[in-house]
Amino acid sequence: MVVTLGSHINTPKRITILGSTGSIGCNTLDLVGCNPTNYIVEVLTANSNVKLLAKQAIKTGARLAVIGDESLYIPLMDALKNSDTEVAAGRNALVEAASRPVDWVMSAIVGAAGLQPTLAAINTGAVIALANKECLVCAGEYMLSEIRKSGATILPVDSEHNAIFQVFDTEQHNSIERIILTASGGPFWGSSLNKMKNATPEEAVAHPNWNMGPKISIDSATMMNKGLELIEAHYLFSMEESKIDVLIHLESIVHSLVAYVDGSVLAQLGCPDMRTPIAYTLGWPNRIKTPGTRLDLASIGSLSFERPNPDLFPAIDLARHALSLGGSAPAVLNAANEVAVEAFLRKKIKFLDIIKIVQFTLDSCEATEISSLGDLISADKESRFIAAERVTECAVKGGNS
Ligand code: NAD
Ligand code: MG
Repeated sequence: MVVTLGSHINTPKRITILGSTGSIGCNTLDLVGCNPTNYIVEVLTANSNVKLLAKQAIKTGARLAVIGDESLYIPLMDALKNSDTEVAAGRNALVEAASRPVDWVMSAIVGAAGLQPTLAAINTGAVIALANKECLVCAGEYMLSEIRKSGATILPVDSEHNAIFQVFDTEQHNSIERIILTASGGPFWGSSLNKMKNATPEEAVAHPNWNMGPKISIDSATMMNKGLELIEAHYLFSMEESKIDVLIHLESIVHSLVAYVDGSVLAQLGCPDMRTPIAYTLGWPNRIKTPGTRLDLASIGSLSFERPNPDLFPAIDLARHALSLGGSAPAVLNAANEVAVEAFLRKKIKFLDIIKIVQFTLDSCEATEISSLGDLISADKESRFIAAERVTECAVKGGNS
């Protein structure tokens, strides 16, 4: 644990945002912009959006801006030539930047690409606001052991896990019967298999309640997002898979619940606005004020809850299966899903092919023991190779095979 209570009172918090140009990154900078004197921005990173990264660096006075795509070093240098911001590019530069000592790091790169920078940040012992669920899904036990070694603090940003974190009494772990992850159901909840069969990327990213990056939006449409979140919850809260439920809640107001042995169920509620969970981690252990709409339950009137439908949305059970296989299986599930989602976004495969490809890849790769980062990288690579071949086969057949 790194934050010493009181040490940051009246002193600005030194922060790094990995993935500052994405949806979570921009929401984080929006909160920083509400009270700029409370923060010193050390590092901002992006993959390829030079224009936005440079704009953010100039606005915040960031000390270092890193672009993942090495070929964009010169354009970023040009864009920041009149500023004091240092510039770097490439994978190694991302990892180096993440290992700079700061108080708080937002891990908001999408996908397994965020794993090594997040591990580098963990190794500094900082407070890590974890939005990137994929890195915990693929590296679960390994990441937890690195956290224990470095004494870093992980604060969940994902709205469901942040909600659970807010009502989860860690001192009473044995008194917790179940945790219940709510799910909006995504854009296809209540629609037919036929509709999903022909869904376009534009339809699939159109989430009813949240405005998010393209990958998580597709994951929400297949409900793999809830599968990944189930694995994330297992690691974050040391809960057995059988004690984690999923509840469809269309309105995205109740962000998740914790059920105790005495029959009490505690939940965290709020309008669907990622600035609330981000603010909880940015201010932690204190609360900070956020802009945005306040919850007015009377005007909402009623809230609905339903059980998930595994026939239409098999992804949650697939994630449960990967978790029960253990070892490399969650990493394989995650990597195959990343490949399939990317292929769908590029219109190479059909919507229903996504989960079929993940299932095929998971069945094709033996779950092996993970004892090093190298083991994880190999499992990720093997899965991507098999999933990519399957994408090609689906593309040849014209999809929805
Ligand atoms: P996004 O696509 O909007 O942004 C992703 C960020 O990562 C961008 O800054 C991009 O430049 C960077 N990036 C992408 N690929 C990279 C690579 N190969 N190397 C380095 N940087 C790379 O995604 P997002 O919606 O902000 O989601 C970020 C993470 O947060 C995901 O893991 C997602 O599951 C999680 N999350 C997002 C939300 C949300 O509301 N958007 C909610 C909960 C959890
Ligand atoms: Mg979530």
